[in-house]
Amino acid sequence: MVDCLFCKIVNKKDDSDLVYQDEKVIVFKDINPQAPVHLLLVSKEHFENILDLEENQFDIIGHIHQVAVKMAKKFNLDEDGFRLVNNTKQKAGQTVFHIHFHLLGGREMQWPPG
Ligand code: 5GP
Ligand code: ZN
Repeated sequence: MVDCLFCKIVNKKDDSDLVYQDEKVIVFKDINPQAPVHLLLVSKEHFENILDLEENQFDIIGHIHQVAVKMAKKFNLDEDGFRLVNNTKQKAGQTVFHIHFHLLGGREMQWPPG
């Protein structure tokens, strides 16, 4: 997708912030972390947001959750817990229009979110 920041990151192989990748997803550190651990789990395929997925394309969401659990364990968040967040559209806080989930942990979280 032309001019999509996360498509550019997906296609760049030598990112030092890269934490994990497989055939469907990449994980890297957020440039502006909101918690001691703040990872972005990004689908390799471009979709603007989860509203863009066809019924038969939701396997990517399950896969991202599976990788999130793997990352939570890798970063020792499984004992204290973590938050997995997806912002869909501008009013919900989406600023990069390519499907991604935030994995946040390492501090006390507040609820409700702002
Ligand atoms: P959103 O606001 O769309 O839910 O999340 C986008 C996230 O991408 C933000 O938390 C922002 O800090 C992060 N971000 C924006 N540009 C870059 C970048 O160039 N590199 C990395 N690693 N993260 C970025
Ligand atoms: Zn994209």
